[in-house]
Amino acid sequence: MNIEKVAHRWKSLPEGSPAKAELAPPEVVKAKYLGVLAAMVGGFWVMVSGGVLLGLLVAVGGLLWGVFTSREASASLAARSRWSREVICLACLHRWVP
Ligand SMILES: [Zn+2]
Repeated sequence: MNIEKVAHRWKSLPEGSPAKAELAPPEVVKAKYLGVLAAMVGGFWVMVSGGVLLGLLVAVGGLLWGVFTSREASASLAARSRWSREVICLACLHRWVP
């Protein structure tokens, strides 16, 4: 049996090798709540200055974006934690979480 942790294998490979790129940890993205807040404040501002429908649209857009960005962030975190638990078979390069 020739099985190694993916994270371990990735660290041991030389920089710039194609296998290294393939085993690289998935990027963890942060939720962009500042942009969401700006969209909601902007939407509210448009609403009070008379553009009720447009303002509402911008605010709702900001809210949906907030849901999207937080889901994206937690999915990337889950992928990263999965990667840290993954193992690779060095014979057939099959990867799985034991
Ligand atoms: Zn195998």
